[in-house]
Amino acid sequence: MSAYTLHCVLCGEEVAEHYTTACPQGHPSLLRADYAERQLNLKNAPGIFRFSSWLPIHGTLPIDAGPVCYKSEALARVLNLPNLFIGFNGYWPERGGTISTCSFKELEALPTMVRAQENTTKTLVIASAGNTARAFLQVSALTGVPVVVVVPDKAIPRLWTTVPVDKACVIAVQGDYTDAIRFSREVCSLPGFIEEGGARNVARRDGMGTVMLDAAVTIGRMPDYYFQAIGSGTGGIAAWEAAVRLRADGRFGTALPSLHLSQNLPFVPMVSAWNERRRNLIAETDMPDAPAAISRVFSDVLTNREPPYAIPGGVFDAMSATDGRMYAVTNEEARAAGTLYTELEGIDLDPAAAVCTASLIRACENGSIDKNRTVLLNITGGGYERVREDHALIPLHPAFSVPAGSTAVQVAKELLEMVKTHV
Ligand SMILES: *Cc1c(COP(=O)(O)O)cnc(C)c1O
Ligand SMILES: [Zn+2]
Repeated sequence: MSAYTLHCVLCGEEVAEHYTTACPQGHPSLLRADYAERQLNLKNAPGIFRFSSWLPIHGTLPIDAGPVCYKSEALARVLNLPNLFIGFNGYWPERGGTISTCSFKELEALPTMVRAQENTTKTLVIASAGNTARAFLQVSALTGVPVVVVVPDKAIPRLWTTVPVDKACVIAVQGDYTDAIRFSREVCSLPGFIEEGGARNVARRDGMGTVMLDAAVTIGRMPDYYFQAIGSGTGGIAAWEAAVRLRADGRFGTALPSLHLSQNLPFVPMVSAWNERRRNLIAETDMPDAPAAISRVFSDVLTNREPPYAIPGGVFDAMSATDGRMYAVTNEEARAAGTLYTELEGIDLDPAAAVCTASLIRACENGSIDKNRTVLLNITGGGYERVREDHALIPLHPAFSVPAGSTAVQVAKELLEMVKTHV
């Protein structure tokens, strides 16, 4: 149960909640949620819903997926970090990790689906290249709430759930992620559909922010450093916003954790801009030969070409407010770090989490951090091998496959039919 209002970060005006993702005045800015409860009041609810007083939702779901935080022993010893805490967001029941689709995107999907149910009769449309699609399909399967998921056709093999999906519609676009985003906008032009919103959706950010909340509760205070691999940087913004709320709470310390964010070479646009303390991304300087660079990274979830970096309340502001650092990690460093993590901590990692682990190793080597202070390493995904031991993974098949650049006309009739029968 939470009471909250929304305001625009740029003009400060309160904005009415109708699953709103932009300031009605047209400001190029994020909206932010303000919660009536100034102190974090943990609820007796499963998983992420323990933190629902700081989520933009009123009800909860009987689903136990949520963030997990534990103190590292083996990796901490090897890196000589006595206060290393790990936020594990994936499948690892031995540690309490119950995210079946194996990434922290499920922490975004859960409150987003509740927020949509509570504020709009429209059906959510999500464009994704993989992890986000799986998370929303899983939550749709668990709740019976319909969603439309638009993916590039190459992502189809990555779509699976652990429970059968019957109210979701998957559309494959014969093209790349950008083509999928364009087609999802086409679908949203049909009556009855609404864009999920990505970084602009407060439920997504505050859902990811629970990793910071969970860590503060586990540690007893905010960490000094927050490590995460970023593609859009939404998780970094979310960690900052959660820390600002924890500071106002008064019980978790007064210093904001410094954001230590990483990208995967050769595609590192935000590292390139931040290292010059530049607010605006310049495509030629920060992402030269983007398609070629994107095709060469180990972790392709970290390759967003239009991240919310310059926008008021976005990544640049989060980095500035927390005196952050950024790291450009090579594929070799990431692979080695992933192997080391699995050997020491005992679970397989998403490639993005391996990039993040590599950035922590680099920080230890080059003196970017004081090793006696408290570190939160956000393992944003893992347990893909572990989940197969407990579950048969159910593959998803697209209902439609459309060429890049199509209009929604050819799928309109079927989609409108779906909305009529399901809502
Ligand atoms: C999406 C994703 C990221 C990047 O998250 P952002 O904060 O949105 O940039 C990192 N790791 C994994 C496993 C992801 O799925
Ligand atoms: Zn505004």
